[in-house]
Parts: sequence; C-alpha cells; structure tokens
Amino acid sequence: MTSLIPTSLITTAIPYVNARPHLGFAYELVLADALARHRRRRGRDVRFITGTDDNSLKNVVAAAREGVATEALVARHTAAFRALGPLLDAVPDDFVQTSVDPRHRAAVERLWRAAADRGDLVRRRWTGRYCAGCEAFVDDGVAVCPEHGTAPEPVSEDNWFFRLSRWAAPVRDAIESGRLAIVPDAARAEILAFLAGEVRDLSVSRDARRAAGWGIPVPGDPDQVVYVWFDALAYYLTSLDFAGGGALLERYWLAAGERAHVIGKGITRFHAVYWPAFLLSAGLPLPDRILVHGYLTVDGEKISKSGRSVEVGPIAERFGADALRWYFVRRCRTRSDADVDTGAIAAAHDRDLADGLGNLVQRTTALGARLAGAVIGPSAVETAEAAELRVRAEALPARVDAALEAFLPDDAAAAIVELIDAANRALDRTAPWRIARTDPAAAAAALYAPLEAARIAAGELSPFVPGIARTILARLGDPDGAPRWGRAAGELRAGPPPLPRKQPA
Ligand SMILES: [Zn+2]
Repeated sequence: MTSLIPTSLITTAIPYVNARPHLGFAYELVLADALARHRRRRGRDVRFITGTDDNSLKNVVAAAREGVATEALVARHTAAFRALGPLLDAVPDDFVQTSVDPRHRAAVERLWRAAADRGDLVRRRWTGRYCAGCEAFVDDGVAVCPEHGTAPEPVSEDNWFFRLSRWAAPVRDAIESGRLAIVPDAARAEILAFLAGEVRDLSVSRDARRAAGWGIPVPGDPDQVVYVWFDALAYYLTSLDFAGGGALLERYWLAAGERAHVIGKGITRFHAVYWPAFLLSAGLPLPDRILVHGYLTVDGEKISKSGRSVEVGPIAERFGADALRWYFVRRCRTRSDADVDTGAIAAAHDRDLADGLGNLVQRTTALGARLAGAVIGPSAVETAEAAELRVRAEALPARVDAALEAFLPDDAAAAIVELIDAANRALDRTAPWRIARTDPAAAAAALYAPLEAARIAAGELSPFVPGIARTILARLGDPDGAPRWGRAAGELRAGPPPLPRKQPA
C-alpha cells in the first residue's frame, strides 16, 4: 500500500575521494541537509542520501602517486567524508560508498542492462582526447580544459557508447515543459543551449587496463569497466535498492512526490542531460529538480580538486557546525560563486544568532521568569506592535518555503532575521521590564508577541542551524517550534524556570 504522506528524495552528488573533504562539498552537504530537514518539518517523508564516488580513475592516479593501494587511499578518504556528517550536524539516511557497497554494483549492472535491452549501448573504437580531471572526453577544439587548466590527453580505445543522440529531444522536452526543473535559470539556459547543438553519443566504458582494474566491470565484457559517471549517477538508485526493486524504490523514486538533486555547477550537464537520458532509456521517471549551486573560494582563493585544498575539519571545529552552516546559508548565495571569508563566519553568527535571536530569547525569558504567575498570552486587544509581529511571523513559513522552492536559502535566512529584528525592535519600544513591578499583567501581555515571534523564528531556523534551534526551542518549552502563531495563553513557558501551565481562557 502506498503511503499518503508525500515523499521526498534529497541528494548530494557524490564527491571524488582522491583527497580529503574540502569546504566546497561541506557546503553542498549542508544545503541538502537543510532542504531535507525543511521537508521533514513540513510533514514530508524524506530520504536524504549522500556517499562517495570511489570508482574514479582519479583515485587510482592519486593512490599511485602516494604509492599506496587504491583501496587503502579510498578507505582513508571515505572515512573523512563520513565524518563530515557529525562535524556539520548533517544527518543523511544513507551513505553509499560505491566501491564496497554491494547494492551499488548490482544497481549499476541493472541500469546497464536496461540500457542494453533498449538497444542504447554499442561498442565502437574511439579516438579523441580525455581530461582525467573531468573524467570526460573533450571536444576537439578544446586545447586546455577550462575546469582544470590542463591539456587533455590523447586516447584511442574500444568503448561502449550510450546512444545519447536518441534521447536528446525527450530530455529537452522534459526541461522545456518544466517536468525537469533546473535551478537557477542560468544553469537551465546552459543546458538548453547544449541540447540545441549536435548531441553526440556518450562513451560509457573504459578499457579495464587503463583503469588498472579499478571500477565495475561491464556486464558481459570484463575487458571494460563502466565509465565513472554512469557508475556515479546510478548511486541515486543504489540507495533505493534498485537491483532489488522493492519498497524503497517505489516510495522514493517511482512514486516520490519530489526527487531533488543538489549539485555543484561543474556537473550540471551530467545531471541534466546524461542522467535523464539513462533514466529514460531504463524506463524510469526523471528527477523533478536539479538544484545547482556555485563554487566557493576561501579567503579569495579558489578551492579546486587539483589546487589548494581547504579542509573542512579545522574550520568546522573552530566555529562549530551551526556557525559554519549559518554562514553557508546566509552569506553564500547559491546562484553565484561565493567567497568564504573565514574572518566573517563568527561575525555572521554573532550578529544574527547570538545578538539577534539569543538576545531576544534572553530578554523575553528573563523577564518571563520575573513574572512567574502571570499569564503570558495574547491580550484581549492586540497592540499595533503585537499585530505587526503576528503578521510577519504568520507569513514567515510561506516565505521560507518559497525561498527554498527557488533554491535561495539566503532569502529564507534573511526573512527569518527580519522577524527576529522586528521582535527585538518591538521589545525595545514597549520595554515591558519597566512595568514588570507596577503592572505585571501588562508586562506579561507585552511579552507574548516577541516570545511567539522568537519561537516561530527558531522553528524556521531549525533546518539551517539545528543545534541552536533545538536549544532555544527547549528553552521556550516548544521542542517542535510549530510554525503557527497563537498558542493558548499560559502554554508559552517563559523559562527557566518554567511558568505553571494554565488552561486556555
Ligand atoms: Zn577537466
């Protein structure tokens, strides 16, 4: 029986593990985790997955350079990628390590056979040039790979080709009709421009010797290994036990309410052209949304897979998961490249969360504690201050939803901060602490709207800064931070110490 709760599959791409995790992937993991948490808050049944792309030739090259076995290098780095979850308070439901996960080889083989059965795989000789950095054949006119700054190497070998040309039009239709959304528009335009040109068939295997035996053998042709992108893209199905074809596949792919891939801009074509073509060939539904983020630089320097590596560990440990998450969401705009100014991570946290929300909660709960016994609830006549906050707070969840729908988490963050700032301003204006002694009932009434605004703001913050939101919501006596204004009088506990619970009037 199909569940009536709408389901979402939220994914990161899987990173190469030829080096330790850098900040760029941490950014992607946080964006995807925030989306997954947001969907859960709205009552969806979510599966959030990540993993590592182990079967890349790059890993073979990196291991050879270090003089260690490929397995050893991969095992060392995948452990560091797994550790990113706890480090960033990102909680995937599954982590697919492609070289060792038995579900993965089975999934790749099933996807391969589906394309073969459809007549979409042919073996031919190929001569051309290959960028090992991209793990892709490059067009003849490209002297230097723009992504890697290296000259592609000449290669001539037999490969299996996927008949991409056959699927270019259906993929374009899916994008133009909006069935496959690519966000932002610039990424969508880039893909449509690519599809408007001549789309050539795609090599989807490598000579097993050139791959040093690393990778998944082509079913029925062990001299060839499956091309790393055909292999890596299949991970989205691996996690749903594609080869087993059971309940997970049904729930989170075939009948999913949402299938969203969060990716970096350098791999849009793989996700928006090749992957949909593989899926169409296999008779499977397409993803609904491909959410593309820009690259990060750190302190003005490019983080690249080949260049300076900016490791996540020391930065996350120095500032804490919430501060780093907040910086990513608030200051790095997904639709462009962004520079992480490490000197500004603490400042963003302090301005918005410690001074903004922290101060609001501190002031309201401290006064609430002084007013023990008074009912902190909506007054019979709503003041202008309270009404303004209520309207803002009631509008906030929809603003957050719209911002995330457009993959603009910084807009969501800005809307939350606006509510916090408005609540602090209202509190400054009404200054209920001045009348706490003389008119505790009026002081309690003036506290209600700022407290309620703080509670809703904290709830809406929880996908982005889960640790801070948890603490604040616990302090406000509402662990869920339900996004609705107007809990009954007395339910809002302005603690510590907690106020006695009273029945609604
Ligand atoms: Zn390249």
